[in-house]
Amino acid sequence: MNPFDLTGRIALVTGGNGGIGLGIAQGLAQAGAQVAIAGRNAQKNAAAAKALGGKALALVADVNETAQVTRMVADTVRHFGGLDILVANAGINIRKPPEDYAAEEWHQIVDTNLTSVFQCCQAAYPEMKRRGGGKIVTIGSMTSIFGFDKGPVYAATKGAVVQLTKSLAAAWAKDNIQVNSILPGFIDTELTRGLRRNFPEAHDRVVARTPSRRWGDPADLAGTAVFFCSRASDFVTGTALPVDGGFSSSMF
Ligand code: NDP
Repeated sequence: MNPFDLTGRIALVTGGNGGIGLGIAQGLAQAGAQVAIAGRNAQKNAAAAKALGGKALALVADVNETAQVTRMVADTVRHFGGLDILVANAGINIRKPPEDYAAEEWHQIVDTNLTSVFQCCQAAYPEMKRRGGGKIVTIGSMTSIFGFDKGPVYAATKGAVVQLTKSLAAAWAKDNIQVNSILPGFIDTELTRGLRRNFPEAHDRVVARTPSRRWGDPADLAGTAVFFCSRASDFVTGTALPVDGGFSSSMF
């Protein structure tokens, strides 16, 4: 039996309509899972569903709205008949020096990157428990490990996501739910295009600082996500795995 086979598994990927979320959704679908993706933008959702081969369920949902999170999970369960896998991937950044943040900006980042992750996990838990187990993947960052002068609030949320992941893993191991975090390095997406627009030197600095000497592609996250969502990781929980071309393992 292939330990990475996801045939018959039902997955929900927040922020699955682009970037890393879509890369992960494609990996899960290729491994056999039925996949729901959720995002705010209906057009991006439709394009992503097409890229996923037409069988994916695309849900318009804002993860900052508790009622929409509840509905997103309920719609997935109704459409596919259950929920086995949650990838709580949706995230944003606003980059500026710490002294320049408005209180609303702090809340916007914390709500999207941290509070929503908790709420999505809470919403998914009862159905996973009912089915006798599940897999949850959260998305940290290099800023779960390192500080980031250009994104202090983002870094705070990504550090906290790892601690939340460990705590959920400890709490829900009794329910056979494994909770792990992926810490992506620098990946070429809309999010980091913003970084490179604001800081043109960022592209070359990342290449020079990364032992693999390149930026990552969303597809680079797919294999690790399949591992964390499959039987192959049934005794792996509460971990945070960098997928970063060696960025976090090397001084230079
Ligand atoms: P993108 O900006 O490319 O994608 C973000 C996704 O999140 C989109 O699908 C967007 O869809 C969705 N999203 C944002 N806010 C909400 C919301 N309130 N409700 C629902 N969906 C939302 O970013 P990435 O793919 O780069 O990032 C994905 C995750 O990976 C984030 O958590 C990010 O912090 C993390 N990450 C990214 C890295 C990188 O180098 N790219 C490195 C480390 C971590 P829509 O706009 O339709 O709502």
